[in-house]
Amino acid sequence: MARYVFITGGVVSSLGKGLASAALGALLQARGFSVRLRKLDPYLNVDPGTMSPFEHGEVFVTDDGAETDLDLGHYERFTGVAARKTDSVSSGRIYSNVLEKERRGAYLGKTIQVIPHVTNEIKDFLAIGDDEVDFMLCEIGGTVGDIEGLPFFEAIRQFGQDRPRGQVIYMHLTLLPYLAASGELKTKPTQHSVKELRSIGIAPDILVCRSEHPIPEKERAKIALFCNVRLDAVIPAYDLKTIYEAPLAYHRAGLDRAVLDAFQISPAPRPDMARWEDVMDRLQNPEGEVRVAIVGKYVRLEDAYKSIAEALTHGGMANRVKVRAEWIDAEIFEREDAAPHLERFHAILVPGGFGERGTEGKIKAAQFAREKGVPYLGICLGMQMAVIEAARNLAGVSDAGSEEFDNEAGKKRFTPVVYHLKEWVQGNHKVERRLDDDKGGTMRLGAYTAVLTPGSRVAGIYGATEIEERHRHRYEVDVAYRQRLEACGMEFSGMSPDGRLPEIIEYRDHPWFIGVQFHPELKSKPFAPHPLFADFIRAAVEASRLV
Ligand code: GLN
Repeated sequence: MARYVFITGGVVSSLGKGLASAALGALLQARGFSVRLRKLDPYLNVDPGTMSPFEHGEVFVTDDGAETDLDLGHYERFTGVAARKTDSVSSGRIYSNVLEKERRGAYLGKTIQVIPHVTNEIKDFLAIGDDEVDFMLCEIGGTVGDIEGLPFFEAIRQFGQDRPRGQVIYMHLTLLPYLAASGELKTKPTQHSVKELRSIGIAPDILVCRSEHPIPEKERAKIALFCNVRLDAVIPAYDLKTIYEAPLAYHRAGLDRAVLDAFQISPAPRPDMARWEDVMDRLQNPEGEVRVAIVGKYVRLEDAYKSIAEALTHGGMANRVKVRAEWIDAEIFEREDAAPHLERFHAILVPGGFGERGTEGKIKAAQFAREKGVPYLGICLGMQMAVIEAARNLAGVSDAGSEEFDNEAGKKRFTPVVYHLKEWVQGNHKVERRLDDDKGGTMRLGAYTAVLTPGSRVAGIYGATEIEERHRHRYEVDVAYRQRLEACGMEFSGMSPDGRLPEIIEYRDHPWFIGVQFHPELKSKPFAPHPLFADFIRAAVEASRLV
């Protein structure tokens, strides 16, 4: 049975609970333990699939096709453990399960209440797979005291009682604000936050204290005393230059030791930090720099493309260069010539996206990259735009477009080179979808196999002719255009195993131009950069030498 660490937050949100959880996962792995990380989100959406990226940042997709919180991306990037559907849950999902059971009569006519029915549903979720790992790290979204979060806090309190003694600990993140006028760090908000936690029956074993200033020993001792936590378990957490420093920084601060102490695991296995030392060495000592333009729609909020930003960094680490990524609003190219904006970049990336807004600009960016021989990576919508560009400007389908935009506008304006996918094969069964299905969950989601053409650029990059990548889209490039496009030099170098769904396109006579229908960024890790990103940045380095 796994030991459980519950990670909660107080005082303010955005303290980096996800990062602290991910770093703790990495540290426990460094000591030889197996881990799994989970996120419990108090909001009422059933999943983040239909939430705007402006509201919630990117949607992270798992191999088994769940649309989850972006924190699961951090978990994977730090531990390499592939997240599953059962690693993310929201209040909405819990209530929806409970109500569905109630409709089925599963509660045998009982009155349905938060305690025990909702809390039991949460505890059942927590227990899934508890015999598979040494440690289960479960992060509760939001802060202590949030109305939506209460059933989760109650459930983790009960969970600690249900399990044998010493199998469950609680770690709480807080903030120590600094008052410049008096030059003091204040511990009172932390005391109040712990008080709030204790009032609902949870006594934290570990306190992680975020602070912009060094925390004097005296203040640490005060926190330990007033919050009833051992001195060694008051862990300072300072701002970091890069998130990938977190495992080393938390290790120096004693987090992993405090956690093992709390579980009374002794002697603690020695940690092997080589992986993270190498990651930091590559990040801190780049031997050059490349500039990459990301031409997208959600440019105002970096979190909307979190995994892409991280995968680019990893690609840089693979080549020992720093990647300077700049977000450019695609709509600019609908008013202005793309060249003056894009000329100063060594590579162009067009990420995924939904809806028509900005797409004409993305098509212009693809055209610029193709014509000027600038390395281009098109992801999902970015691949679709590259295909539409080729159809219009090379294959003579002047009104080529995507059915997605026609469906949005309610009238037909384009020849659909990218069309709505109505059925596909998953494993050994057929999936069918209609356009007017529910918005949530009508996409081709999760890991699918693609077969690569031997000798193609992508087959060389992957060093394989069969790959598995994660998908999240409704529309597909219509394979009916394959011959016409291939006659113009665009090779369909990756296809679904049945040969019906184009997965990858590339130009052989271009320095580096690849479009992929899937999201490679979701599988990239700092210690294992995704091959497509590593090679894309290698091409950017080459381009930078030509300038
Ligand atoms: N909107 C496109 C589709 O649904 C692309 C999706 C994406 O880029 N993730 O097919």
